Amino acid sequence: MATLHFGAARQCVLERVSALRSLPAIEETALDDAAGRVLAESVRADRDYPPTPRSIRDGFALRAADAPGRLRVIGEVRAGESFPGEVRTGEAVEIMTGAPLPKGADAVVMIEHARRDGDHVEVPACEPGQFINPQASEARKGDELLAVGRRIGFSEIATLASAGKAVARVYRRPRVAVLATGDEIIEVTGTPLPHQVRNSNAHSLAAQVRRAGAIPQVLPIARDKLEPTRELIERGLSADLLLLSGGVSAGKYDVVEQALAALGAEFYFDRVLIQPGQPLVFGRARGTFFFGLPGNPVSTMVTFEVFARAALELLSGQSAAPLPLVYALLAEDFSHKPGLTRFIPALLNEGRVKPAGWRGSSDIPAAARANAFLVAGAERECWRAGELIPVLLK
Ligand code: AMP
Ligand code: MG
Repeated sequence: MATLHFGAARQCVLERVSALRSLPAIEETALDDAAGRVLAESVRADRDYPPTPRSIRDGFALRAADAPGRLRVIGEVRAGESFPGEVRTGEAVEIMTGAPLPKGADAVVMIEHARRDGDHVEVPACEPGQFINPQASEARKGDELLAVGRRIGFSEIATLASAGKAVARVYRRPRVAVLATGDEIIEVTGTPLPHQVRNSNAHSLAAQVRRAGAIPQVLPIARDKLEPTRELIERGLSADLLLLSGGVSAGKYDVVEQALAALGAEFYFDRVLIQPGQPLVFGRARGTFFFGLPGNPVSTMVTFEVFARAALELLSGQSAAPLPLVYALLAEDFSHKPGLTRFIPALLNEGRVKPAGWRGSSDIPAAARANAFLVAGAERECWRAGELIPVLLK
C-alpha cells in the first residue's frame, strides 16, 4: 500500500476530503455562542465603514487651505454627535476622536499642535485629509466582510456584532468517533499492572476534537481481535469522522487495517515518512473518512494536529486552513537523521526555539512540557544555533 512524504500525505487528505465531503446541516446560534463555530452565511457591511468621515485625533477640524493661520473656533463636536453647522473659510471646530467631520472641513490638526486663545486657535500647515478616516475607507456598504466557511474567532465576533448580527447561521458541529485499541490499554480509573497503560489517547483526542470545534464520541476500548474491533469500527463509521488509535503497525496483533478492509474500506495511504507517526492510515469506508493513528501518545497527538485536524476542519464546513507554522531562531545546534520529517516537542520562547528533550513517541511528559513542535525537514541533517527553523504551534 501507499507510503507518502509528509507534504504529499497532507495534500492527499486535503484533496480527498474537499472532493468528497458533504457539508453539515445549518443551524442558528446566538452571537455570544458563535465563537469556534463555522459560518454558513456570507456577512456583508450593512452601511459604509465608517459611515461618515471621522476624526482619528482630538484637535481642530478646519479647511487645510486656511492653514497655517489663526482661525475662529465656532463650536465643538464629540463622538456620538454630528455638528449642525458648516466650517467656512477662517473657521475651525474643536473635534474629539471618533467624531464625524463637520461639513466644510477637510483636515484635523492635533490639539497638541494647536494654540488655543479664547475664541481663536493658531494652527500649523497641514495636508487635506490629515487625521481623517474617510467614509467607506474600511468597507463599502454591501462589501463581503466574512465568507462562508470562516471559523469564528474574536475578530469575526466583532465583525458580526458591528454588522448587526445578533444571530449567526453556522454549520452543525460534526461528530467524531474516537476508538482506542490495544490489549494493554485500561481505563483511566483503573490501576495498571506493569504491562498495562492507561488510555490517554481517547482523552487527548477528545480534547483535540473539541478544540477543533467538533463533538467527540468516545467508544469502548477495542481489544486486539478482528471481530470485536470490526464491530466497534462499524459503530464508529456512523459518525462524521472516525479516529482510531493504535493497531496500525505491522505487528501480528495490529488488526485495525484488516478490520477496516473487512468493512470494504478504501485506503489512500498507510505509511507517512514522518516521526513521530510513521504508520498512519487514512481512508474512507461506508461514506465516512477515518484515520488509523499510531498508538504511541505523542504520535497520536502529532498526527491528529497535522492530518486529522485538516480533515475535520473541512468536514466542519471550514475552508482549508493552513498549518500554524512559523519560523523561529534555533537556540542551539540541532541535527537529525534525514529521510523523515520530524515534529519534535519543543520550547518556543519569544521567537527562539529548542527541543524539549523528548525520549521518543511515548514521552507524554515531554509533550506536556513543550509549547510547540520544531519541524525538521526530511532533506536536511544539521541546523546551527541562530538559524531559522519551522515551528508548528501547539
Ligand atoms: P500500537 O500503535 O498499537 O502498536 O501502540 C503503540 C504503543 O502506544 C503501545 O505500546 C502503548 O504503549 C501505546 N498506546 C496505544 N494505545 C494507547 C492509548 N489509547 N493510550 C495510551 N497509550 C497507548
Ligand atoms: Mg496496539
